[in-house]
Amino acid sequence: MEYQRLSQEQAAAQFWDGMRCVANVATTTGNKTLFQAIQVVGQAAMAVGIPIPDTGEFVRCPMCDAMPGQRCINVVGHPLPDHLHPERTERARRLREEIGKP
Ligand SMILES: [Zn+2]
Repeated sequence: MEYQRLSQEQAAAQFWDGMRCVANVATTTGNKTLFQAIQVVGQAAMAVGIPIPDTGEFVRCPMCDAMPGQRCINVVGHPLPDHLHPERTERARRLREEIGKP
């Protein structure tokens, strides 16, 4: 590992890129323990002020109960236009606002 000085924004982007790699492995292997680890690490990151991506991929989905990092699944009555439920994206947006407050 190399030491590289990064801005807070760059460090956050790099952090979530790494989490995406873990999420991809968790998805392809179906490893629930990895999804739980993503949740724990992600909560710790947010606790120290690293903003979560506003895509919603790293919050639990209120519609299909997908874990942070896990893809949404189809649920009757809740259209899935993209890979994530819009309600999940909204939850992430609200969380970002909340975290941004002093
Ligand atoms: Zn969902």
